[in-house]
Amino acid sequence: MLILFIISLIFVWLIYREFKNPNDMDRFTQGYIAVLALIAIVTCFPILDHWRFESFLSAKASQLADNRYAKVKCATVFQSVYDKFGLAGTANPATGHIILQYPTCDDLRDYLETPEMANTKEIYSLNVFTHEAMHVRGEMNEQKTECQSIQRNVRSAKLLGVLTHVAEQTARDYYRGSYQTHPYFSEECAPGKAFDEDLSDSVW
Ligand SMILES: [Zn+2]
Repeated sequence: MLILFIISLIFVWLIYREFKNPNDMDRFTQGYIAVLALIAIVTCFPILDHWRFESFLSAKASQLADNRYAKVKCATVFQSVYDKFGLAGTANPATGHIILQYPTCDDLRDYLETPEMANTKEIYSLNVFTHEAMHVRGEMNEQKTECQSIQRNVRSAKLLGVLTHVAEQTARDYYRGSYQTHPYFSEECAPGKAFDEDLSDSVW
């Protein structure tokens, strides 16, 4: 990502260099500048798209966290390779910073493209996003955080633009599927049990 950004800047600089001498700008130079501009835009696009997706996720995480400040970062492939914790995501409630690992963000993007065809990994990625937002909301106990996430996955998917019935299906699939063998599983995360928050848009 950084390499693309540097390449893009080099091309912007090349364009700037041409504009410094506008007197000897002939047809050939104009064509040359057009090509440079095209390359600068093409190399810039993935970076802008990455930032756009992060700011979109940040705004939605903040809404999930009762409007607390949230800033989501999607790690790049290289950053994820060097991640020593091996978690799908991490959050710091003190700063509101959430880091989603590269595969998590990638799966979440795929999920949002075709949510009605979600596979297990994509369903999992939605829950990771919601789970980290629950940390930013203030919960640090992992079992409670996970159960708050379970009860907000419908809301979370809808905030991200998923249709209600698809969002409900995704939330149900996670609750009945991956969650049942998850390290943060709790018997108390069920209707009428200790962790039930009695939300109107819960999975149950
Ligand atoms: Zn957690």
